[in-house]
Amino acid sequence: MAHVKLHIPGPVEVSEKTFKALCSPMIGHRGQGFKDLYAKIQPQLQQLLSTKQLVYLSTSSAWGVMEGAIRNLVSKKVLNCMCGAFSDKWFDVSKKCGKQADALQVEWGSPIRGEAIDKKLATGEFDALTIIHNETSTGVMSPLDEIAALKKKYPDVMFIVDAVSSMTAVPLKFDELGIDVLLAGTQKAFALPPGAAVFACSKAALAKAATIKDRGYYFDFAEFQKNAEQSMTPSTPSIPHIYALSSKLDEFFAEGLENRYARHKKTNQMTRDWATKHGFTLYADKGFESVTLTCVNNGAKPGGRTVDVAKLQKLTKDQGFLIDGGYGKIKGTTFRVSNMGDETEATMGQLFAAMDKAMGQL
Ligand SMILES: *Cc1c(COP(=O)(O)O)cnc(C)c1O
Repeated sequence: MAHVKLHIPGPVEVSEKTFKALCSPMIGHRGQGFKDLYAKIQPQLQQLLSTKQLVYLSTSSAWGVMEGAIRNLVSKKVLNCMCGAFSDKWFDVSKKCGKQADALQVEWGSPIRGEAIDKKLATGEFDALTIIHNETSTGVMSPLDEIAALKKKYPDVMFIVDAVSSMTAVPLKFDELGIDVLLAGTQKAFALPPGAAVFACSKAALAKAATIKDRGYYFDFAEFQKNAEQSMTPSTPSIPHIYALSSKLDEFFAEGLENRYARHKKTNQMTRDWATKHGFTLYADKGFESVTLTCVNNGAKPGGRTVDVAKLQKLTKDQGFLIDGGYGKIKGTTFRVSNMGDETEATMGQLFAAMDKAMGQL
C-alpha cells in the first residue's frame, strides 16, 4: 500500500535516514557501547534544552513521564492548568495517581496566563502545577516565560511543563526558565517514531522527589538521575530510539537550532496563510497560536468558513497526505495541520497544493 505522508500533529513523518538509524545493530544497555552512545547525545540534549542538568531518556510515551512527575513531585496538592484535551487529561491522571488536585480551566482556544496561576498559587494550597506549553488539541501556545516568572514568587511549588509538541521547534531554556520538569515525547517535533520521551529535572525537583515515599520504580526520578550519572537508564531502554535520537540531534545541530526554529515559524506561517486564503479563521486566540501545528476553526468558534472536514481529509488523503480532522470535543468543528519535524517550505508547498485541489473538489 502506498504510504500516506503524515501531517497530523503526531506521530509525524519519519525520514528514511531516521529509520536506518533505528536499525543500527543491537548492543547491551550496561556495556561501554551504550554508555558511549548516551554520553555522546547528553551534551547535545543539554545544549538543546540550555541546561546543565542531565537529560534523561525514558522508554515510554510522554504520558509515562507526565504521570511520573505527578507521582514524584506532588505531596500536598497539584494545580492542573487546563486549556485543551491533553492538559484537561492531566487533571484526571493526577486524581488517578491518588493525589489531591485542582483544576485551573480556561476555555479551549485560549492560553493559560500567569495572572490566573498566581491567584491560585497565592492560596498556598499547592506544591506543584502542571502546564502544557503547546496544547496540541487546540493549537494554542501558552506564554511560558510569563508563567515561569512566577517560580520566583513560589519557589517551593514544582513547575511541571509538558513541551511535547514544541521541544526542538522553539527555544526552551530550562535553567533560565527556572522550572522543575520539562518533558517531551519523540513522535512530535523530534520527528522520531513514538515510544520514547526525554526530560530534565531541576535540583529542587530531585530533592523533592527524594522526600516522596510512593513514587514507584519505572518513573522514579532519583533512579533516572543515579543512572544518567553513569550514562545509563534505570531499565532496558529502547536502544533503537536512542540511535535514532542521536542521528536526529546531529541533524539539528548541522542545520543550526536558530535555523530550525526559523523554519518552523516560516512553515507555520505558510499554514496560517493557507487557512486565511481559503476564508478560515484560526481556533487559537490571536497572539497565542502554536508554531508547530495549526488548528483551523471550522465552526467551533464564530467567524470564518466551514467545510465538510471528513471530505477534505479524504480528498487530501487520496493525494497522499494525512491531515487531522480535529481532536476530542472539537473534532469536525476544527481540523489540524502539522508543520513540525523535518517539514520545509517545499514539502509544505506540496501539501498545500494537494489541499487546494481538495478544496476545489468539495
Ligand atoms: C501527544 C501529546 C501528549 C501525549 O503523548 P503520548 O505520546 O501519547 O503519551 C501529551 N501532551 C501533548 C502536548 C501532546 O501533544
